[in-house]
Amino acid sequence: MSSVTAHPGRTFSYEPLPGRVVFAAGARGRLPEEADRLGMGRILVLSTPEQREAAEAVCASLGGRIAGIFPGATMHVPIEVAHEARARAAELGADGFVAFGGGSTIGLAKAIALISPHPILALPTTYAGSEMTPIYGITEAGIKTTGRDLRVLPRTVIYDPELTLSLPVALSAASGLNALAHALEALYAPDANPIVSLMAEESIAAFGRSLPRVVRDPADLGARSDALYAAWLAGSVLGSVGMGLHHKLCHTLGGTFDLPHAQTHAVVLPHAIAYNAPFAGEALARAARALGVANVAALPGALYDLAAAVGAPVSLASLGMPESGIERAADLATRNAYPNPRPLERHAIGALIRDAFDGKRPAAD
Ligand code: NAD
Repeated sequence: MSSVTAHPGRTFSYEPLPGRVVFAAGARGRLPEEADRLGMGRILVLSTPEQREAAEAVCASLGGRIAGIFPGATMHVPIEVAHEARARAAELGADGFVAFGGGSTIGLAKAIALISPHPILALPTTYAGSEMTPIYGITEAGIKTTGRDLRVLPRTVIYDPELTLSLPVALSAASGLNALAHALEALYAPDANPIVSLMAEESIAAFGRSLPRVVRDPADLGARSDALYAAWLAGSVLGSVGMGLHHKLCHTLGGTFDLPHAQTHAVVLPHAIAYNAPFAGEALARAARALGVANVAALPGALYDLAAAVGAPVSLASLGMPESGIERAADLATRNAYPNPRPLERHAIGALIRDAFDGKRPAAD
């Protein structure tokens, strides 16, 4: 229990983000009143092409407040798609954006809100957590640029676990591990603080118990609710504190080799935690406790086992990364300095990526 003992020398700063969260099975029924609360009268609804029908069905309750729908969201917000959606918003005179979907759709809403005074209302349907962050990303000529701006933080988030019942099992597992990575890295963030650590630990515990249940029975609403609750917490900590090596690696690998976002997180997580664990023992003790693991040394193996148990991918090779890219990825991931518990050691990071490529289970120290 040493990690939660009151500490006379404790130092931290904490700045909560604004935003309203409504969480309940069936909460999508409150969409009209929540849109009214934000003063939205001419709404542009955003979705991916695959989720268009579901978005239209849920947003039908908005009636005449809908000005139009833009069902063109795709992964990583290509600048061309952002331009198109911004033009549509301007042409319709939209005064609010309803984002129905995962990180790709919410990311597109953020790209519009970045140059607009109007609010986003998000209905998340994955566990990615973008809805709770002021972080945006736009991809131009293959390079994704990210930034932080409060204008892109959704003003209201409606979490309805029933909307996640259709999330395919494989994506549920990978998306959950993507979110788990936010919570794990938040524990050792340089700007970690007591509230964020409490939320992160609770998120890890809730994912640890809910993800295996979601995968066993994707229609189990109780498990879906618990996983979405964990995702809310994980997104909240992602929005509050800086991330380290794991997120940097996934960003580099995903961008350089066009790997799927959530699955890349699922593969890299045990290895990034193995790299950092010897330098972040106290912080990660919370994660070990939350997952019921004996000690921090056993945590990377337990994360690998969790990924394997829920059927998430465990190797970068299986995601289509070329073996010849391992050294290049290590160079790119260590090119710029950034905060991380363990210093960035080029050789050790190369070995980490090799292990992730091969899908090797991290050994306990
Ligand atoms: P996604 O939004 O790309 O969705 C993946 C696929 O699943 C899509 O085809 C989508 O239509 C489908 N889908 C989503 N929910 C569904 C549901 N309930 N039922 C059926 N199908 C469903 O995936 P994602 O992992 O949520 O988002 C990834 C993107 O989000 C990446 O670009 C990532 O960089 C970004 N992201 C940003 C932040 C941030 O804070 N800015 C945080 C996390 C992720």
